Amino acid sequence: MKAVVDMDACIGCGLCAQVAPDVYKMEDDKAVVTMAEISEDMAEQAQSGSDQCPVNAIAVS
Ligand code: SF4
Repeated sequence: MKAVVDMDACIGCGLCAQVAPDVYKMEDDKAVVTMAEISEDMAEQAQSGSDQCPVNAIAVS
């Protein structure tokens, strides 16, 4: 499983990093994914961060 942040779409609200701090962090007012491969135990966090994003900038697959 992977999570990808669309940097152009991200408005830097920080919500994903609050909801899923193990998976997303803020860097220069944009969210970045902290791990190349999302492990099973992080999948729920990764998905909820994506679900919370107000501009649907996070693709989880
Ligand atoms: S929730 Fe969406 S818009 Fe907000 S920082 Fe994360 S990726 Fe960017």
